[in-house]
Amino acid sequence: MGMRFFHCVADCVDAIFPVRCVLCGSLVSKSPWWPAPLCTSCEKTLECIGGLRCERCGRPLISEQGLCAQCKNEQYILMHILPVFAYKGNAARLVQCYKIEERASLAKYFSLRLAEMVPLFAETSSDIAIVPVPPRPEKIWAGKFDQVGILANYLSRYGYRIWKGLVRRKGGAEQKTLARADRLKNAYQSYMLRAGSMDIPEKALLLDDVCTTGSTLDACAEILAGKGTTILGAIVLAAD
Ligand SMILES: [Zn+2]
Ligand SMILES: [Zn+2]
Repeated sequence: MGMRFFHCVADCVDAIFPVRCVLCGSLVSKSPWWPAPLCTSCEKTLECIGGLRCERCGRPLISEQGLCAQCKNEQYILMHILPVFAYKGNAARLVQCYKIEERASLAKYFSLRLAEMVPLFAETSSDIAIVPVPPRPEKIWAGKFDQVGILANYLSRYGYRIWKGLVRRKGGAEQKTLARADRLKNAYQSYMLRAGSMDIPEKALLLDDVCTTGSTLDACAEILAGKGTTILGAIVLAAD
């Protein structure tokens, strides 16, 4: 299915019916991200990450400086994760509507916010490939939604190259069900290059929806770094 066709379907499903904001229920008329179901008043309430944040994972810092306590104690390949939102309040509700209720057209809003951050990592769009974290294959076989892949498709509208050359092995445990030490181990065993992957990017910016420990992103970064890719960092919708 072509990317153009997909965009049209996702936008049209929400455009056929009157669009109601998923946060307050009011009718959404014109916004730069229409037909994404989010009104301009609720958009102002979304919890952006402001103030000091960890240089690596992007989470707000409380009393630490530079790196948060967790990032200080680990060795990572990926050193710069930039989230748009803090995973709380209305921002968390909006991300859940997207991921769980599969409101695909919200990707039009999210991609707008993500696209604003890409220039922080690369001077020109031709310099960079955006690499989405791949979904669990079981999820796709079950006909579920690839929320990160869809964000990437929308980001391609901004002229960025999207590279979907990573895959997730089947049978891995879900990250959120694991304890921290097991998450790291599981992540490194979970991803690989797609068979016959071509055009491995010279410089990559990884993309994910919600970042908890960053171990998923780091595992993906390691695979690419092993192939000679320079890892510029990662952009994510929200940091938990
Ligand atoms: Zn609203
Ligand atoms: Zn951190």
